[in-house]
Amino acid sequence: MKPAQLLLAYQRLVEKERELRDEIERVETLLASDPNIAHAEEALAAAREAQQAIQLRLRESDRDREAHRARLRSREKELMSGRIRSPSELMQLSTEVQHLKASFADLEEAELRLMEEGELADQAVVEASERLQEARQRSSDDEPQLRRDLESWQADLATVKADSEGAWAQVPAAAQNAYLRVRVHPPVAEVDRNQCLACHVTVTSSGMQILRKGDGIVQCENCGRILVMA
Ligand SMILES: [Zn+2]
Repeated sequence: MKPAQLLLAYQRLVEKERELRDEIERVETLLASDPNIAHAEEALAAAREAQQAIQLRLRESDRDREAHRARLRSREKELMSGRIRSPSELMQLSTEVQHLKASFADLEEAELRLMEEGELADQAVVEASERLQEARQRSSDDEPQLRRDLESWQADLATVKADSEGAWAQVPAAAQNAYLRVRVHPPVAEVDRNQCLACHVTVTSSGMQILRKGDGIVQCENCGRILVMA
């Protein structure tokens, strides 16, 4: 192989190596902590929090209602006791009892709505727990395959690393230096129909002559990449 072709082969191995590293990292992250499980856990915690808030409001509402009921009963008793003789006082008390009855009905209505909300919140907790269970199940179902993939990619990575080191060792020192000096990525570009395939600028005729002979390093005058015939 010509030096530029060796560099292209090396570049492809380096790219393959990077892809493998990315895949390995992705799977290792997934195995360490499955984001689907984490999301399902957060959703369950939020559903439980909402459920507890409603339970708290229900207990408070119960307490208010009982206090209200006791007050209503004591006023009714007083009204019926016959102890109050003054018509204006009786009228006042009777009005108070009417108001207490009306607001007691409102409290009961509000409590019913709260109980409905509570049922929905309970249902949401059940559903969130089921989804968490499903996420855990899916994760444990997927795990053996992920571990097999991981092992095979790690083996591939070792091979590709050895290959890329071997390929680099075959590149003449001058070509290695030229490669290391290129500031754009990837540093090697193919040429097809006299064009640099990375930046699509036409290669000069003298550049094309050297490329056809094949031994010298030609760099794109526009993007600076090392050129190789496609
Ligand atoms: Zn170019």
